Amino acid sequence: MAFEDYTAAELAHVLESIKYRSPEDMATLSMLSERTFGWARRYPQLGMVQDRFSRAAAAQWPRSRSDQTWREVVAASQALAASMRRLGNIRLALCKERAGWGTCNLTLDEEGQCSQHQ
Ligand SMILES: [Zn+2]
Repeated sequence: MAFEDYTAAELAHVLESIKYRSPEDMATLSMLSERTFGWARRYPQLGMVQDRFSRAAAAQWPRSRSDQTWREVVAASQALAASMRRLGNIRLALCKERAGWGTCNLTLDEEGQCSQHQ
């Protein structure tokens, strides 16, 4: 469950459901942060809301989290969900080359090129 095959609308749904999850569910927050970062590489209009979400998620680790950081996670995830929902039922093209750790999975650019595999 790393969300690689999710469409933008499906990821928006997961982001919207964060408010119902545990504030201690860092595994989901980390995966969503990483995956939506990949989307922001391909769709720059997501940049600011994605950055806000990643910062909020990073502040949610046990050493720094509080009621306030959780409220920001919820707010940022709703904002990012709204932007992702506008992209609709599209999937992100990911690099399927083998890499040292498994599959590369970096976001392909508009020409279908990977920054690591040309
Ligand atoms: Zn690659």
